[in-house]
Amino acid sequence: MAGLKPTIIRGGLESLYFTGAHLVLRPFVGGVGAILTLHHVRPPRPDRFQPNRLLEVTPRFLTRVVKALRRSGLDLVSLDEMHRRMTEGDFSRRFVCLTFDDGYRDTLQWAYPILKEAGAPFAVYVPTSFPDRLGELWWLALEAVIARNDRIGLVIDGRDRKFDCHTVAEKRALYEELYWWLRALPTEAEMRGVVRHLAAYYHVDIVAFCEELCMSWPELAELAADPLVTIGAHTVNHLALAKLAKDTARSEMDLSSSVIEAALSVRPRHLSYPYGDRTSAGSREFEIAAELGFKTAVTTRPGVLFPAHRRAMTALPRISLNGDYQRMRYVRVLLSGSATAMWNGFRRLDAA
Ligand SMILES: [Zn+2]
Repeated sequence: MAGLKPTIIRGGLESLYFTGAHLVLRPFVGGVGAILTLHHVRPPRPDRFQPNRLLEVTPRFLTRVVKALRRSGLDLVSLDEMHRRMTEGDFSRRFVCLTFDDGYRDTLQWAYPILKEAGAPFAVYVPTSFPDRLGELWWLALEAVIARNDRIGLVIDGRDRKFDCHTVAEKRALYEELYWWLRALPTEAEMRGVVRHLAAYYHVDIVAFCEELCMSWPELAELAADPLVTIGAHTVNHLALAKLAKDTARSEMDLSSSVIEAALSVRPRHLSYPYGDRTSAGSREFEIAAELGFKTAVTTRPGVLFPAHRRAMTALPRISLNGDYQRMRYVRVLLSGSATAMWNGFRRLDAA
């Protein structure tokens, strides 16, 4: 997100790196492996208002990351192999899994050639409504509404509000405010309702983003045919599961597997919780995922993997390759586990 927070995070990463603290901490916090989260991989765009830029890295950066991982002697492994090592306690070598959320077309277009060339396995977590062309990439609709207007009106908590968003700074601030206000609404239905209404009023076609940015079923089949690729579930409608009734949350997870199995002839054994933060996935979801037979499920809670995670294979942390921090030294610090250990207060397992 734009604003103050990235500066603080960046400052923290820089100081960890330059003080050498991550090298000192490494034996204690480095864990046995890590799962990296990526979204878009595509060439940089010139727009100054890109509030979702944290969700993308450049092909060049991905290439450098893969080379650096290989050079540092880490094994790049599939989710099945990660599961085997975790459950069998095979920790003789540190490992990294590469995972891509949402099934964007640029995974096929930009990331795949790089990873194929490197012989690196990776996973793609697909919300089935995206290839079904019914998905709502509401965060992009919100971005488009703010990008294309100088002033927008919105009813917030029953009050008519008007927001100026003429300058880039105003647009960034407004996006930040509305994004977190929406995410904090008690139900996903309310949140989607507000964005749908905004999009319709300001002539933004909310469903068009799917067609434009997400892989179709034939494109997913092309990826799925490669043994390097694992297709994972990411629910049907990309909803914050923890805000749903239990039965709905369960069917979001289960149905998505059935749809992927019908389309690609493989039933996913791995799951990624939409948004994946504490407000979107908690112990109830971790239990359901295990009951449904998923071998692993990943959150976006930051952290590296420790042997203790074998008892929490449906509540795994990940490390995000964030587009705002495309410097190799940040990646080295994150993989050392010292940054996430500090965020987690040096608590290793966080599966509640
Ligand atoms: Zn997602």
